[in-house]
Amino acid sequence: MEITPPACLKRSLYVPNKTLMGPGPSNCSQRVLNSLSNPILGHLHPECLEIMDDIKEGIKYVFQTKNDATMCISGSGHAGMEAALCNLIEDGDVVLLGTTGLWGHRAAEMAKRYGGDVRFVESRFGRSLKLDEIEFAFEGHKPNIFFLAQGDSSTGILQRQLKEIGEICRKYNCLFVVDTVASLGGTEFYMDNWLVDVAYTGSQKVLGAPPGITPISFSKRAMKHIVERKTKVKVYYFDATLIGQYWNCFGGSRIYHHTISSTLLYGLRESLAQICAQGLASVIERHEQCSYRLQHGLSELGLEMFVPNANDRLPTVNTIKVPAGVDWRKVAEYTMRKYNLEISGGLGPTVEQVFRIGLMGENATFERVDLVLNVLHEAIQSSKRDVS
Ligand code: PMP
Repeated sequence: MEITPPACLKRSLYVPNKTLMGPGPSNCSQRVLNSLSNPILGHLHPECLEIMDDIKEGIKYVFQTKNDATMCISGSGHAGMEAALCNLIEDGDVVLLGTTGLWGHRAAEMAKRYGGDVRFVESRFGRSLKLDEIEFAFEGHKPNIFFLAQGDSSTGILQRQLKEIGEICRKYNCLFVVDTVASLGGTEFYMDNWLVDVAYTGSQKVLGAPPGITPISFSKRAMKHIVERKTKVKVYYFDATLIGQYWNCFGGSRIYHHTISSTLLYGLRESLAQICAQGLASVIERHEQCSYRLQHGLSELGLEMFVPNANDRLPTVNTIKVPAGVDWRKVAEYTMRKYNLEISGGLGPTVEQVFRIGLMGENATFERVDLVLNVLHEAIQSSKRDVS
Protein backbone atom coordinates (compact mmCIF):
# COMPACT_ATOMS: atom_id res chain seq x y z
CA MET A 1 0.00 0.00 0.00
CA GLU A 2 1.18 3.50 -0.83
CA ILE A 3 -0.09 4.97 2.41
CA THR A 4 1.47 3.32 5.45
CA PRO A 5 0.09 3.24 9.02
CA PRO A 6 0.87 6.58 10.65
CA ALA A 7 3.57 6.58 13.35
CA CYS A 8 1.37 8.63 15.70
CA LEU A 9 -1.09 5.75 15.97
CA LYS A 10 1.66 3.44 17.22
CA ARG A 11 1.87 5.49 20.40
CA SER A 12 -0.64 4.63 23.11
CA LEU A 13 -3.50 6.99 23.85
CA TYR A 14 -2.76 9.60 26.48
CA VAL A 15 -5.48 11.76 28.01
CA PRO A 16 -4.54 14.18 30.81
CA ASN A 17 -6.86 14.65 33.75
CA LYS A 18 -8.01 18.27 33.60
CA THR A 19 -10.32 20.30 35.81
CA LEU A 20 -12.71 21.79 33.30
CA MET A 21 -13.83 25.14 34.70
CA GLY A 22 -14.43 26.93 31.41
CA PRO A 23 -17.86 27.31 29.80
CA GLY A 24 -18.09 23.57 29.09
CA PRO A 25 -17.68 20.69 28.82
CA SER A 26 -17.51 20.05 32.56
CA ASN A 27 -15.98 17.00 34.22
CA CYS A 28 -18.01 13.80 34.30
CA SER A 29 -18.54 11.95 37.58
CA GLN A 30 -16.84 8.59 38.07
CA ARG A 31 -20.27 6.94 37.80
CA VAL A 32 -20.77 8.49 34.35
CA LEU A 33 -17.22 7.62 33.22
CA ASN A 34 -17.64 4.02 34.38
CA SER A 35 -20.87 3.69 32.43
CA LEU A 36 -19.04 4.55 29.20
CA SER A 37 -17.05 1.32 29.26
CA ASN A 38 -20.14 -0.87 28.97
CA PRO A 39 -20.47 -3.03 25.84
CA ILE A 40 -22.03 -1.48 22.75
CA LEU A 41 -25.68 -2.32 22.14
CA GLY A 42 -27.54 -2.31 18.85
CA HIS A 43 -29.66 0.79 18.33
CA LEU A 44 -32.89 -1.24 18.24
CA HIS A 45 -32.02 -3.82 20.90
CA PRO A 46 -34.63 -3.90 23.66
CA GLU A 47 -32.04 -3.02 26.32
CA CYS A 48 -31.01 0.05 24.35
CA LEU A 49 -34.64 1.10 23.85
CA GLU A 50 -35.25 0.74 27.60
CA ILE A 51 -32.32 3.05 28.32
CA MET A 52 -33.79 5.56 25.84
CA ASP A 53 -37.13 5.36 27.67
CA ASP A 54 -35.37 6.00 31.00
CA ILE A 55 -33.60 8.99 29.47
CA LYS A 56 -36.87 10.35 28.13
CA GLU A 57 -38.34 10.34 31.63
CA GLY A 58 -35.20 12.01 32.99
CA ILE A 59 -35.35 14.74 30.36
CA LYS A 60 -39.02 15.41 31.15
CA TYR A 61 -37.99 15.90 34.77
CA VAL A 62 -35.11 18.29 34.07
CA PHE A 63 -37.19 20.31 31.57
CA GLN A 64 -40.27 20.08 33.85
CA THR A 65 -42.48 19.00 30.97
CA LYS A 66 -45.08 16.38 30.13
CA ASN A 67 -44.42 16.71 26.38
CA ASP A 68 -44.67 13.39 24.54
CA ALA A 69 -42.24 14.70 21.92
CA THR A 70 -39.24 14.57 24.23
CA MET A 71 -36.13 12.94 22.74
CA CYS A 72 -32.44 13.40 21.98
CA ILE A 73 -30.65 14.61 18.90
CA SER A 74 -27.43 12.72 18.13
CA GLY A 75 -25.06 15.66 18.02
CA SER A 76 -23.81 18.42 20.29
CA GLY A 77 -25.77 21.51 21.41
CA HIS A 78 -25.50 23.01 17.93
CA ALA A 79 -27.43 20.04 16.59
CA GLY A 80 -30.20 20.79 19.08
CA MET A 81 -30.25 24.36 17.84
CA GLU A 82 -30.40 23.20 14.21
CA ALA A 83 -33.17 20.74 15.04
CA ALA A 84 -35.26 23.32 16.88
CA LEU A 85 -35.02 25.77 14.02
CA CYS A 86 -35.23 23.52 10.98
CA ASN A 87 -38.36 21.79 12.27
CA LEU A 88 -40.21 25.06 12.83
CA ILE A 89 -39.03 27.29 9.97
CA GLU A 90 -40.53 27.34 6.49
CA ASP A 91 -39.40 29.71 3.72
CA GLY A 92 -40.25 33.31 4.52
CA ASP A 93 -41.12 32.78 8.19
CA VAL A 94 -40.16 35.73 10.32
CA VAL A 95 -37.70 34.55 12.97
CA LEU A 96 -36.99 37.01 15.76
CA LEU A 97 -33.76 36.39 17.65
CA GLY A 98 -33.46 37.71 21.16
CA THR A 99 -29.76 38.37 21.67
CA THR A 100 -27.82 38.88 24.88
CA GLY A 101 -24.51 37.71 23.40
CA LEU A 102 -23.29 35.41 20.67
CA TRP A 103 -25.98 32.73 20.61
CA GLY A 104 -28.84 34.69 19.06
CA HIS A 105 -26.51 35.51 16.17
CA ARG A 106 -25.45 31.88 15.80
CA ALA A 107 -29.12 30.86 15.68
CA ALA A 108 -29.72 33.53 13.03
CA GLU A 109 -27.00 31.98 10.85
CA MET A 110 -28.91 28.72 11.01
CA ALA A 111 -32.37 30.26 10.61
CA LYS A 112 -31.30 31.97 7.37
CA ARG A 113 -30.18 28.64 5.93
CA TYR A 114 -33.66 27.21 6.54
CA GLY A 115 -35.28 30.13 4.69
CA GLY A 116 -36.10 32.28 7.71
CA ASP A 117 -36.45 36.05 7.45
CA VAL A 118 -34.35 36.97 10.47
CA ARG A 119 -34.79 40.00 12.71
CA PHE A 120 -33.13 40.87 16.00
CA VAL A 121 -34.01 42.30 19.35
CA GLU A 122 -30.72 43.02 21.02
CA SER A 123 -30.20 43.72 24.70
CA ARG A 124 -28.06 46.60 25.95
CA PHE A 125 -24.41 45.55 26.34
CA GLY A 126 -24.00 43.33 29.40
CA ARG A 127 -27.73 43.30 30.23
CA SER A 128 -30.67 40.99 29.74
CA LEU A 129 -33.65 41.90 27.57
CA LYS A 130 -36.49 43.88 29.04
CA LEU A 131 -40.09 42.81 28.48
CA ASP A 132 -41.03 46.12 26.86
CA GLU A 133 -38.09 45.82 24.42
CA ILE A 134 -39.33 42.35 23.47
CA GLU A 135 -42.96 43.38 23.12
CA PHE A 136 -41.95 46.40 21.02
CA ALA A 137 -40.02 44.08 18.67
CA PHE A 138 -43.03 41.73 18.44
CA GLU A 139 -45.25 44.69 17.49
CA GLY A 140 -42.85 45.71 14.74
CA HIS A 141 -41.80 42.32 13.34
CA LYS A 142 -44.83 40.07 13.99
CA PRO A 143 -42.56 36.99 14.23
CA ASN A 144 -43.63 33.39 13.61
CA ILE A 145 -40.78 32.13 15.77
CA PHE A 146 -38.94 33.72 18.70
CA PHE A 147 -35.56 32.36 19.82
CA LEU A 148 -33.76 33.13 23.05
CA ALA A 149 -30.88 31.63 25.03
CA GLN A 150 -31.87 31.45 28.69
CA GLY A 151 -28.18 31.60 29.53
CA ASP A 152 -25.76 33.13 27.07
CA SER A 153 -22.40 31.56 27.78
CA SER A 154 -20.49 34.21 25.79
CA THR A 155 -21.55 37.03 28.10
CA GLY A 156 -22.71 35.17 31.22
CA ILE A 157 -26.13 36.79 30.98
CA LEU A 158 -29.20 35.04 32.39
CA GLN A 159 -32.53 35.99 30.83
CA ARG A 160 -35.24 35.94 33.47
CA GLN A 161 -39.02 36.45 33.03
CA LEU A 162 -39.33 33.58 30.55
CA LYS A 163 -42.92 33.00 31.70
CA GLU A 164 -43.86 36.54 30.75
CA ILE A 165 -42.01 36.14 27.44
CA GLY A 166 -43.92 32.89 26.84
CA GLU A 167 -47.14 34.83 27.36
CA ILE A 168 -46.06 37.47 24.84
CA CYS A 169 -45.39 34.66 22.34
CA ARG A 170 -48.90 33.28 22.85
CA LYS A 171 -50.43 36.74 22.53
CA TYR A 172 -48.75 37.18 19.12
CA ASN A 173 -49.32 33.56 18.04
CA CYS A 174 -45.59 32.92 17.86
CA LEU A 175 -43.60 29.77 18.67
CA PHE A 176 -41.13 30.11 21.55
CA VAL A 177 -37.71 28.40 21.31
CA VAL A 178 -35.40 28.45 24.32
CA ASP A 179 -31.75 27.39 24.30
CA THR A 180 -30.96 26.04 27.78
CA VAL A 181 -27.57 24.52 26.85
CA ALA A 182 -25.62 26.57 29.38
CA SER A 183 -28.35 27.14 31.95
CA LEU A 184 -30.43 24.01 32.58
CA GLY A 185 -29.90 22.61 36.06
CA GLY A 186 -28.09 25.76 37.18
CA THR A 187 -31.19 27.93 37.34
CA GLU A 188 -34.94 27.31 37.34
CA PHE A 189 -36.65 26.28 34.11
CA TYR A 190 -40.30 25.21 33.74
CA MET A 191 -40.95 24.32 30.13
CA ASP A 192 -44.72 23.73 30.39
CA ASN A 193 -45.48 26.41 32.93
CA TRP A 194 -43.53 29.02 30.96
CA LEU A 195 -45.23 28.11 27.67
CA VAL A 196 -42.00 27.15 25.91
CA ASP A 197 -42.56 25.37 22.58
CA VAL A 198 -39.09 23.96 21.95
CA ALA A 199 -36.29 23.61 24.49
CA TYR A 200 -32.95 21.86 24.15
CA THR A 201 -29.94 21.56 26.41
CA GLY A 202 -26.34 20.37 26.42
CA SER A 203 -25.39 17.01 27.88
CA GLN A 204 -21.89 18.22 28.75
CA LYS A 205 -22.57 21.13 31.05
CA VAL A 206 -24.63 20.89 34.26
CA LEU A 207 -25.83 17.38 33.41
CA GLY A 208 -22.21 16.20 33.37
CA ALA A 209 -22.43 13.66 30.55
CA PRO A 210 -20.13 13.57 27.51
CA PRO A 211 -20.93 15.95 24.64
CA GLY A 212 -22.59 14.59 21.52
CA ILE A 213 -26.17 13.88 22.56
CA THR A 214 -28.67 16.67 23.03
CA PRO A 215 -31.96 16.48 24.94
CA ILE A 216 -34.79 18.32 23.18
CA SER A 217 -38.51 18.64 23.75
CA PHE A 218 -41.35 19.91 21.53
CA SER A 219 -44.68 21.11 22.91
CA LYS A 220 -48.00 19.85 21.46
CA ARG A 221 -48.31 23.22 19.77
CA ALA A 222 -44.87 22.87 18.17
CA MET A 223 -45.62 19.32 16.99
CA LYS A 224 -48.96 20.43 15.49
CA HIS A 225 -47.07 23.14 13.60
CA ILE A 226 -44.49 20.61 12.36
CA VAL A 227 -47.07 18.05 11.28
CA GLU A 228 -49.04 20.73 9.42
CA ARG A 229 -46.01 22.17 7.58
CA LYS A 230 -46.59 22.81 3.88
CA THR A 231 -43.06 21.59 3.08
CA LYS A 232 -40.93 18.79 4.49
CA VAL A 233 -38.40 19.57 7.21
CA LYS A 234 -35.22 20.42 5.26
CA VAL A 235 -32.89 18.11 7.19
CA TYR A 236 -33.84 14.44 7.32
CA TYR A 237 -31.46 13.77 10.21
CA PHE A 238 -33.16 16.39 12.42
CA ASP A 239 -36.80 15.73 11.48
CA ALA A 240 -38.63 15.57 14.85
CA THR A 241 -41.44 13.42 13.45
CA LEU A 242 -38.90 10.74 12.45
CA ILE A 243 -36.64 10.99 15.50
CA GLY A 244 -39.78 10.99 17.64
CA GLN A 245 -40.82 7.67 16.08
CA TYR A 246 -37.42 6.19 16.89
CA TRP A 247 -37.74 7.51 20.47
CA ASN A 248 -41.30 6.09 20.71
CA CYS A 249 -42.87 9.48 21.39
CA PHE A 250 -46.07 8.97 19.45
CA GLY A 251 -46.96 5.26 20.01
CA GLY A 252 -46.83 2.94 16.99
CA SER A 253 -43.74 0.99 16.08
CA ARG A 254 -40.20 2.24 16.38
CA ILE A 255 -38.33 2.96 13.19
CA TYR A 256 -34.67 2.85 12.33
CA HIS A 257 -33.73 6.49 11.85
CA HIS A 258 -30.00 6.40 12.60
CA THR A 259 -27.52 4.37 14.64
CA ILE A 260 -27.52 6.04 18.01
CA SER A 261 -24.38 5.91 20.15
CA SER A 262 -25.31 3.51 22.95
CA THR A 263 -22.17 4.70 24.78
CA LEU A 264 -23.45 8.27 24.91
CA LEU A 265 -26.83 6.97 26.06
CA TYR A 266 -25.19 5.23 29.03
CA GLY A 267 -23.43 8.42 30.06
CA LEU A 268 -26.53 10.56 29.72
CA ARG A 269 -28.70 8.05 31.59
CA GLU A 270 -26.30 7.98 34.52
CA SER A 271 -25.94 11.76 34.64
CA LEU A 272 -29.73 12.14 34.69
CA ALA A 273 -29.99 9.44 37.36
CA GLN A 274 -27.55 11.41 39.53
CA ILE A 275 -29.60 14.58 39.13
CA CYS A 276 -32.79 12.68 39.99
CA ALA A 277 -31.11 11.26 43.10
CA GLN A 278 -29.92 14.70 44.23
CA GLY A 279 -33.22 16.38 43.33
CA LEU A 280 -33.39 19.16 40.75
CA ALA A 281 -34.19 21.90 43.29
CA SER A 282 -31.10 21.09 45.34
CA VAL A 283 -28.92 20.85 42.21
CA ILE A 284 -30.07 24.35 41.20
CA GLU A 285 -29.55 25.66 44.73
CA ARG A 286 -25.99 24.23 44.76
CA HIS A 287 -25.14 25.98 41.49
CA GLU A 288 -26.55 29.29 42.72
CA GLN A 289 -24.70 29.07 46.03
CA CYS A 290 -21.43 28.25 44.26
CA SER A 291 -21.83 31.25 41.97
CA TYR A 292 -22.53 33.57 44.96
CA ARG A 293 -19.43 32.24 46.68
CA LEU A 294 -17.35 32.78 43.56
CA GLN A 295 -18.67 36.32 43.10
CA HIS A 296 -17.94 37.14 46.72
CA GLY A 297 -14.40 35.73 46.45
CA LEU A 298 -13.77 37.63 43.22
CA SER A 299 -14.80 40.92 44.74
CA GLU A 300 -12.43 40.23 47.67
CA LEU A 301 -9.69 39.82 45.08
CA GLY A 302 -10.66 43.20 43.63
CA LEU A 303 -12.07 41.70 40.44
CA GLU A 304 -15.24 42.95 38.79
CA MET A 305 -18.05 40.96 37.20
CA PHE A 306 -18.80 41.72 33.53
CA VAL A 307 -22.59 41.70 34.08
CA PRO A 308 -23.35 44.74 36.25
CA ASN A 309 -26.79 43.69 37.47
CA ALA A 310 -26.49 40.73 39.88
CA ASN A 311 -29.97 39.53 38.90
CA ASP A 312 -28.82 39.14 35.26
CA ARG A 313 -25.90 36.84 36.13
CA LEU A 314 -25.87 33.25 34.97
CA PRO A 315 -24.71 31.00 37.86
CA THR A 316 -23.18 28.39 35.56
CA VAL A 317 -20.90 30.54 33.38
CA ASN A 318 -19.45 33.48 35.26
CA THR A 319 -17.86 36.34 33.32
CA ILE A 320 -15.20 38.48 34.98
CA LYS A 321 -13.61 41.61 33.53
CA VAL A 322 -9.94 41.13 32.70
CA PRO A 323 -8.16 43.75 34.83
CA ALA A 324 -6.21 46.47 33.02
CA GLY A 325 -2.64 45.42 32.27
CA VAL A 326 -3.40 41.68 32.52
CA ASP A 327 -3.10 39.39 29.51
CA TRP A 328 -5.94 36.86 29.85
CA ARG A 329 -4.11 34.36 27.65
CA LYS A 330 -1.15 34.24 30.03
CA VAL A 331 -3.52 33.69 32.95
CA ALA A 332 -5.36 30.86 31.21
CA GLU A 333 -2.07 29.28 30.10
CA TYR A 334 -0.71 29.47 33.65
CA THR A 335 -3.72 27.75 35.24
CA MET A 336 -3.57 25.00 32.63
CA ARG A 337 0.19 24.51 32.76
CA LYS A 338 0.52 24.53 36.54
CA TYR A 339 -2.81 23.08 37.68
CA ASN A 340 -4.36 21.42 34.61
CA LEU A 341 -7.28 23.72 35.32
CA GLU A 342 -9.23 25.35 32.52
CA ILE A 343 -10.32 28.97 32.75
CA SER A 344 -11.54 30.43 29.50
CA GLY A 345 -11.32 33.79 27.77
CA GLY A 346 -14.22 35.65 26.17
CA LEU A 347 -16.21 34.69 23.09
CA GLY A 348 -18.02 36.80 20.48
CA PRO A 349 -18.87 40.15 22.06
CA THR A 350 -16.68 39.51 25.12
CA VAL A 351 -13.55 38.36 23.30
CA GLU A 352 -10.35 39.74 24.93
CA GLN A 353 -12.50 41.33 27.68
CA VAL A 354 -13.43 38.61 30.17
CA PHE A 355 -12.47 35.41 31.90
CA ARG A 356 -15.19 32.80 31.86
CA ILE A 357 -15.39 30.46 34.82
CA GLY A 358 -17.78 27.55 34.59
CA LEU A 359 -19.33 26.06 37.72
CA MET A 360 -21.25 23.13 36.36
CA GLY A 361 -22.15 19.65 37.50
CA GLU A 362 -19.21 18.02 39.30
CA ASN A 363 -17.43 21.38 39.40
CA ALA A 364 -20.23 23.17 41.23
CA THR A 365 -18.85 22.59 44.73
CA PHE A 366 -17.44 25.00 47.31
CA GLU A 367 -14.09 23.16 47.12
CA ARG A 368 -13.83 23.77 43.38
CA VAL A 369 -14.90 27.42 43.82
CA ASP A 370 -12.14 27.96 46.39
CA LEU A 371 -9.65 26.17 44.17
CA VAL A 372 -10.45 28.30 41.12
CA LEU A 373 -10.29 31.50 43.19
CA ASN A 374 -6.82 30.61 44.53
CA VAL A 375 -5.53 29.52 41.16
CA LEU A 376 -6.91 32.58 39.37
CA HIS A 377 -5.39 34.91 41.94
CA GLU A 378 -1.99 33.24 41.67
CA ALA A 379 -2.14 33.27 37.87
CA ILE A 380 -3.01 36.98 37.71
CA GLN A 381 -0.18 37.86 40.11
CA SER A 382 2.22 35.78 38.05
CA SER A 383 1.14 37.39 34.76
CA LYS A 384 1.65 40.85 36.30
CA ARG A 385 5.19 39.84 37.38
CA ASP A 386 5.90 38.69 33.81
CA VAL A 387 5.00 42.14 32.48
CA SER A 388 7.00 44.19 35.00
N1 PMP B 1 -25.92 27.32 23.14
C1 PMP B 1 -25.25 27.76 24.22
C2 PMP B 1 -25.90 28.75 25.12
C3 PMP B 1 -23.98 27.27 24.51
O1 PMP B 1 -23.34 27.70 25.60
C4 PMP B 1 -23.39 26.31 23.65
C5 PMP B 1 -22.03 25.72 23.94
N2 PMP B 1 -21.11 26.58 24.49
C6 PMP B 1 -24.12 25.90 22.53
C7 PMP B 1 -25.38 26.42 22.31
C8 PMP B 1 -23.55 24.94 21.54
O2 PMP B 1 -23.29 23.72 22.10
P1 PMP B 1 -22.18 22.71 21.50
O3 PMP B 1 -20.86 23.36 21.65
O4 PMP B 1 -22.38 21.51 22.36
O5 PMP B 1 -22.52 22.46 20.08
